[in-house]
Amino acid sequence: MIVVMRKDATEAEVQAVVAHVEELGFRAHLSRGVERTIIGIIGDERPLATQPLERLPGVERVVPILQPYKLASRDFKPENTVITINGVRIGGPEIVVIAGPCAVESREQLLETAFAVKEAGAKMLRGGAYKPRTSPYSFQGLGPRGLELLAEAREATGLPVVTEVMSPTDLELVCQYADMLQIGARNMQNFSLLQAVGRSGHPVLLKRGMSSRIDELLMAAEYILANSNYNVALCERGIRTFETATRFTLDINAVAVLREATHLPIVVDPSHGTGKWSLVPAAARAAVAAGADALIIEVHPCPERALSDGAQSLKPETFGKLMQELREIARAVGRTL
Ligand code: PEP
Ligand code: MN
Repeated sequence: MIVVMRKDATEAEVQAVVAHVEELGFRAHLSRGVERTIIGIIGDERPLATQPLERLPGVERVVPILQPYKLASRDFKPENTVITINGVRIGGPEIVVIAGPCAVESREQLLETAFAVKEAGAKMLRGGAYKPRTSPYSFQGLGPRGLELLAEAREATGLPVVTEVMSPTDLELVCQYADMLQIGARNMQNFSLLQAVGRSGHPVLLKRGMSSRIDELLMAAEYILANSNYNVALCERGIRTFETATRFTLDINAVAVLREATHLPIVVDPSHGTGKWSLVPAAARAAVAAGADALIIEVHPCPERALSDGAQSLKPETFGKLMQELREIARAVGRTL
């Protein structure tokens, strides 16, 4: 449940409610909006039913949050959350494009891509050093060397980097290099990994599992938030359906559903969402029109030679052209890009 404080509540009254809630064995999460302060009560709330919190000084009302996700819900925090990744803000009026190769393959490949996407207007660089591949015989990523190359590309271009962490064992090392941690679709419900990235406090890009519902994505985010890490962006990246024309079915509805359900920023991945480069621009345009806060797009200087996801990677020229189109759509929906 949440405790909504009166507009004129004093700081002492807010602190008294927090102290009271903590005395009862709960964690209190303070959310200070422009209008008023909201105190989220975290934990199993059943014993609270008998506690007349409404009678504490400064309290306007006590509202139960009906969804199983609490911290992620819009009831809990009505205003959109903006997260900051090494200076780049996701969730504000500007739509952020994150671009780069599926996997870091070499210094040349990464730097060439990084400069090209920066030139076209991307604000962050993506690239996997640890790749979750379906086959154990496919390229698994460069591991620690890939992280070093990402850091070098960040130095050279100034673009913050997002890269996947697949296991709690690698987390400390990945945090030393990455500005944002990607939790891949296949790990969306790896709860010990979610808890560990929560404790790390690092910004997180949480991708929707390919067979997960939107409420399951929100519950996965809740694991991170419940570990006091509120820097979480949710990513729709396509789900499994009966359709075989595309690799996955990009669930554009998810953008609108998430916008209602949560205050967290929404990212769309049209590359995995379609699986085919020629379809990526249309899906990206639709995502911007639907209200996404950021896009994550795979770009490779030579897709036919890519070690992973070449079929869905854009060449830098195509990416540049797409960026122009996205700017126009952003303007039409009252955003910048
Ligand atoms: C990726 O971003 O390259 C990736 C593996 O994504 P997903 O986890 O969505 O498949
Ligand atoms: Mn990929």
